[in-house]
Amino acid sequence: MKTTVHGDHLIQLTRFPVFFPINCYLVREGDGFTLLDTGIGGAAGAILAAARAAGGPIVRIALTHAHADHVGALDALYAELPDAEVAITARDARFLRGERGLDPGEPDTKPRGSFKTCATRPTRILAPGDRVGSLEVVAAPGHTPGHVAFFDPRDGTLIAGDAFQTRGGVAVSGVMRLTFPFIAFATWHAPTALHSARALRALDPARLATGHGAVLEAPLPALDRAIEVAARKIGEDMPSGRRVA
Ligand SMILES: [Zn+2]
Repeated sequence: MKTTVHGDHLIQLTRFPVFFPINCYLVREGDGFTLLDTGIGGAAGAILAAARAAGGPIVRIALTHAHADHVGALDALYAELPDAEVAITARDARFLRGERGLDPGEPDTKPRGSFKTCATRPTRILAPGDRVGSLEVVAAPGHTPGHVAFFDPRDGTLIAGDAFQTRGGVAVSGVMRLTFPFIAFATWHAPTALHSARALRALDPARLATGHGAVLEAPLPALDRAIEVAARKIGEDMPSGRRVA
């Protein structure tokens, strides 16, 4: 597990950094760390060790979405951290329970990517506008129906999950990057992802942290380019502008 510190609050933990980077993040708070996503199964020991080395307990686990490479180590971590808060949106909590169906009114596209059913039940259901420690919960559906991002107003860090990728070039979820096409393969509804990308860009983030790829400082020009590309490829046919969280 590769550890990279960014600023005062963010520690990036990366598994398989060379071939298939999978990030999760420790965000430093007054009472310990919030862990954003958990990586794939088998990552728990390395995540716990990284938190110990950084000098704090993990007191919260917040999930951007329910894909297996983001919730894979959840059960193993929760076994070690039974007092930790476990937070996810109601919509993606259903994937976590093993339900794969669509809600009435959602775009009729089958959710894609690898979901993992977890035994751990969330102790907190997240909605946009909530706070997790210092982090603001921001709706970012599209990659999955209940995907959220987390924004740290202390330093403008946006933890975007798979709403964007930075591996293979900065891209909006759903736009295929030939050198790392997996995020696009796993994206539920690209027009919704484009809508979310614009909403995240509007936060004017100073730092972009994604599920896959390097953390990017001063990401606005790259985000603008990525949104432009997505708008061209995906088109502007956003059906009804519906938001799900
Ligand atoms: Zn994903």
